[in-house]
Amino acid sequence: MASGGMKIKNLSRNDLCWCGSGKKYKKCHMEMELQLEELRKKGYIVPGRKQIKTEAQIEGIRQSSQLTREILDMLGEYIKPGITTREIDHLVYDYTIKAGAYPAALNYKGFPASICTSLNNVICHGIPDETQLQDGDILNVDVTSILNKYYGDASRMFIIGNAAEQACKLVQVAKECLYLGIDQVKPFNRIGDIAFAIEQHANKHGFSVVQDFGGHGVGLEFHEEPFVHHYGQKDSGMVLVPNMVFTVEPMINAGNYKCRVLEDGWTTVTVDNSLSAQWEHTVRVTENSVEILTG
Ligand SMILES: [Zn+2]
Repeated sequence: MASGGMKIKNLSRNDLCWCGSGKKYKKCHMEMELQLEELRKKGYIVPGRKQIKTEAQIEGIRQSSQLTREILDMLGEYIKPGITTREIDHLVYDYTIKAGAYPAALNYKGFPASICTSLNNVICHGIPDETQLQDGDILNVDVTSILNKYYGDASRMFIIGNAAEQACKLVQVAKECLYLGIDQVKPFNRIGDIAFAIEQHANKHGFSVVQDFGGHGVGLEFHEEPFVHHYGQKDSGMVLVPNMVFTVEPMINAGNYKCRVLEDGWTTVTVDNSLSAQWEHTVRVTENSVEILTG
């Protein structure tokens, strides 16, 4: 549920701040919360304390995110024609367990694997299986690690051998969309600013942005508030403040934006069978810009 009202409750100026910084409230989060309260009164959607991570939590999420990044790096040398998505899944499981972590996807709401592998026209949530990768395929691998109870979530595209020009362009534009979206992450910008930047760029290249799925708060849980949509208007959606942590993960289709979930309840494909590409990072809002935790 979206957090509605955030009050400056239970704290007076000289109390210790709720965030665990050890500073007095008036020297820490008070001013920002007063600012947010003003915005809330004007009708803005503002984050509550639950959406703002403490320094200790951020350090935990950073470590987990770095493991996720390491896993995606590791896969680079294995992902080539002939390997099956199940073999990729096993590589990730083994690496994750050896690192003292656990794959968040495994058994999540019944999901049967450690990662999502979304091939060609699959938008997201593809289930690893015996499919062998072929020259010309494009594949998204989505990894979320749980390390010391903290979650780090990222995904990347892999081009298998030599893909068609249009496929390579889609992969490239989807990556550009991710970074243009991330460029909008800074205090007092809004989720809609991220979305607008992404959609503009995708549309400019004749591609579309998936609407039914988006990014999400992450760190203490797999999926937290807010929902991060990747299409729509500037100056809309939740206001961003320092130490919010969430994913940006635009799904870009070569054709129609609409999607369809297959009978397995997970695999989500394009309705028109066109190719789809996605890149994802876990990011943190800093005092004046952004930290890419999985970067
Ligand atoms: Zn504080």
